[in-house]
Amino acid sequence: MDSNPEKSTPPSTQSPWGKVTQPATATTSLTEIMSEQLATDLHKKEVDKYTKSLLSDPFEKEVACYIAPETSDCENDLMIARMLQMQFDKEHDEGIKRTESKWNGTSKVTVSLDNFLVSGENDDDSDYEDDMDDRKRHWDTFEASEAAFPTIPKCGYTKPTEGKGIVTKHDITMANRRNACRVMEFPPEFQTGDGGGFDMRLSNQVFNSLKRHSKIDQGRRSKMHDKSELSTSEQAVDPQTRIMLHKWFDNGLLEGVRGIISTGKEAVILHAEGGKKEDGTQLPKNCAVKVFKTTMNEFKERDKYIRNDYRFRDKFTKQNCRKMIELWAEKELRNLIRMKNAGLRCPAVAHLKKHVLVMEMISDSRGPAPKLKDVVLSDAELSVAYEQVIEFVKGMYQKAGLIHADLSEYNILWCEGDCWFIDVGQAVEPRHPGARTFLYRDCTNICTFFRRKGLPNVLSPDELFKQVTGLNDDPKKCIEDAVLEQQIKEFERDEELLAHQEPRNHYPFEHCWQKSLEENKASKEAAGLSSHTVEVEATKT
Ligand code: ADP
Ligand code: MN
Repeated sequence: MDSNPEKSTPPSTQSPWGKVTQPATATTSLTEIMSEQLATDLHKKEVDKYTKSLLSDPFEKEVACYIAPETSDCENDLMIARMLQMQFDKEHDEGIKRTESKWNGTSKVTVSLDNFLVSGENDDDSDYEDDMDDRKRHWDTFEASEAAFPTIPKCGYTKPTEGKGIVTKHDITMANRRNACRVMEFPPEFQTGDGGGFDMRLSNQVFNSLKRHSKIDQGRRSKMHDKSELSTSEQAVDPQTRIMLHKWFDNGLLEGVRGIISTGKEAVILHAEGGKKEDGTQLPKNCAVKVFKTTMNEFKERDKYIRNDYRFRDKFTKQNCRKMIELWAEKELRNLIRMKNAGLRCPAVAHLKKHVLVMEMISDSRGPAPKLKDVVLSDAELSVAYEQVIEFVKGMYQKAGLIHADLSEYNILWCEGDCWFIDVGQAVEPRHPGARTFLYRDCTNICTFFRRKGLPNVLSPDELFKQVTGLNDDPKKCIEDAVLEQQIKEFERDEELLAHQEPRNHYPFEHCWQKSLEENKASKEAAGLSSHTVEVEATKT
């Protein structure tokens, strides 16, 4: 179909009585349809194969427990509608507030339009005892009856008229009518029934009981309000992520967002209260929700290397960038699971969907644990921290088969006397061509930090590198030596194979990850940067 009807409409159709010439319809050849069908079938076969191989691998099984299944977009429609409504309500209220302040200006006498607000911000909690000087209300018949009572002057009572006794603010009839009025003022969600048309009176006891229930109800609602408001935390993430979070509040996965822990270049970390998964698994009470930034703008670092590469100019669309970041999030999840299984101190993962990773928050009674760089440690504590970090680098390499690749006092948290290790999206296996470079850099960061802190007998980076890898040669030589060259060649050959062949018995993640590495590497080379410089830039946070 032609997407621009105006251009293609022949002049004759511009008059309703003119002769209509049919525009030529585009045809699709049978071979095209067939090849598309074939591609779909092949894809499905591959996926089936992967799924089968998945079931036999315990690690993949474990990973699968945390990854949310793909859902259809329709499910989001309700959430989108709700968010639009919320946005609409918010704008409506802002409009009301603007009108109010325009009317009032600097005048001492002000008009309040609070009754017209829809977001429930104006819920009045004041008790009924102190309501004598409340604003006038005039919306129901029994209210009119109340108004028929003489107004009570400052002295607190009115003089008897026509044989009636003194009327004070404690007059039973009056108080009961007032109670009825106030019940009518409970938030609209609270079912009070219709009090119009008769002289309704409520005793204090009934009123208090209703008030108590209304408050409980309101508490529940304001909790829900909290969830949907997300206040400033919400501003930190993009609309797609917001929809996802709302959905999680709705289905109980999360109970509410408590605030922002950190906003970095590449991720926003929120503090949320964990709820329950659909299968009943309980999430940790305090969760850290890591939202990887997905837009090109925020990923300038990467964009820089990709934009200059002619091969990716068209290919590296926004969509591709999103996919790569989702892979990055999945990589962090996998690395965390591997670390946990190796007995290392890292956050337990809880859930992953697209670019949002939910994990346990490392925290003490005061909140999220501080970074090692921000705490003041006693000599003894410093020494404990050092021992733990050295143990970690060794354990990470020898037990988890990983190199952190961004290890520093910024990515170590200090919690109740222990070091916890985070931010492992970039961690790589020792077979990665850059592995030794990264490991050596990690060692240098650690040794420098503890030496700077004044700890005696800190290992040299070379010595630490040797202890971790078990290689006795000079590490610098190690990094550059022939073995590594060989590894690089093998790695590149692997990549080439992966790029041109259907991977056999590989989970798609590995395949996709290799490909994204390849793309990244190629773009870095195109930008004329060594992998080291790029990694340093990309991981410095
Ligand atoms: P990045 O450095 O890429 O922005 P990190 O994973 O390092 O992302 O998280 C940034 C900061 O958020 C950390 O330095 C830490 O202070 C905090 N943080 C991240 N994850 C957790 C967690 N699980 N528990 C407590 N704090 C966390
Ligand atoms: Mn970090």
